[in-house]
Amino acid sequence: MTQPILDVLHDTFGFSAFRGVQDQVVSRVMAGRNTLAIMPTGAGKSLCYQLPAVALDGCCVVISPLIALMHDQLRAATALGIRAASLTSVDADWQETQDRFRAGELDLLYVAPERASSEGFRNLLGRAPISMFAIDEAHCVSEWGHDFRPDYRLLRPLLDSFPDRPRLALTATADAHTREDILKQLGIERDGMIIAGFDRPNIRYAVHPRDGLTRQIGDLVSANPGPGIVYAQTRAGTEKLAEQLAKLPGPGGKRQVRAYHAGMPPEVRRANQDAFIASEDMVMCATVAFGMGIDKPDVRFVVHAGLPKSIEGYYQESGRAGRDGEPAEAHLFWGADDFARARMRIGEIEPERQAGERARISALGALVETGSCRRAILLRHFGESPPETCGNCDNCLNPPASVDATQTARKLLSA
Ligand code: ADP
Ligand code: MG
Repeated sequence: MTQPILDVLHDTFGFSAFRGVQDQVVSRVMAGRNTLAIMPTGAGKSLCYQLPAVALDGCCVVISPLIALMHDQLRAATALGIRAASLTSVDADWQETQDRFRAGELDLLYVAPERASSEGFRNLLGRAPISMFAIDEAHCVSEWGHDFRPDYRLLRPLLDSFPDRPRLALTATADAHTREDILKQLGIERDGMIIAGFDRPNIRYAVHPRDGLTRQIGDLVSANPGPGIVYAQTRAGTEKLAEQLAKLPGPGGKRQVRAYHAGMPPEVRRANQDAFIASEDMVMCATVAFGMGIDKPDVRFVVHAGLPKSIEGYYQESGRAGRDGEPAEAHLFWGADDFARARMRIGEIEPERQAGERARISALGALVETGSCRRAILLRHFGESPPETCGNCDNCLNPPASVDATQTARKLLSA
């Protein structure tokens, strides 16, 4: 890596070194080459485009799927002194942003995919200095992915109209099909794919059949004094759980608990999120709307009160635990009725998406029903070849009785 780049890493971002594959990704982008970076949550994807955005002449256009996500990134970048802005429906300073953009006074411009592919935006781009394109949460481009956003499909002509500007697609979650799709849809060469390891060794995975869920989660929360997230399946479920868990004892009196879901007034949501980020012991009962783009390194546990939508979703949500590298736990509670509900949901979607959804549910079935290493199943799903046992999941720590029984049987037979 060249000294000027290391200087930017240090002076602007305050980091002494790149982490993992960051240096590979940044080098490729700085060399003007299209790249797909697949890096786990917390690996530091933002830096991979923010650093080139600062180092290169012109503005990096960032496509991002959610306004909340854009604004979190924007706040963080601005705090570092990076010249950043967004053009979204809730931004009031459009004229100023467009003027700065055209005058070459921006390093980063965040837009949603539907805006990016609009005629008006393309005209604007034609009159501004562009350094590169970053496509965040790039799995949204794939129907196979778990967050398909049709507007991502409209980006290609825009990217192609700047053939000499590199495009960097970033995602935490991409199985083999989704990867293929991203490369194809965004026009990135196969050798442009950089995959970081998916293992999060400090997270202990455990899966439990539901059997008195409130008591089960209560026991868990009581045993874990640190901050944690409990994902409930419905908005009402988050509030009900929060009410029940608030009665549990905590480090300094009762346990601090709040709820978070998209049906709450924005100012309440914001206040609860801020309180959680600042807290050292709060439990947040939330829908999966909570957590994307939130940078809280010391989350000590993540609980799923029911079956997640997909393994990718599960990996991403549970991955919000232990970003600081310290021991953390991920607990998943499931029941047979979760699978029945999932099958009903699949029956109601368009026929061409049913096969993908069915595959997703059966992958989840394998994860929850296995008597062998959970981590190995997760990592194999992302194309890795992990060891048979990890030593840090429920099945590796306490091999289930049925496995003991087969071993006993084998011993009896061989005797
Ligand atoms: P992702 O988008 O991959 O989930 P983020 O870009 O939000 O991850 O980064 C996660 C955290 O890692 C942030 O707190 C960020 O400041 C930190 N981080 C990123 N790169 C480095 C680095 N090279 N050294 C230390 N910390 C880093
Ligand atoms: Mg990110």
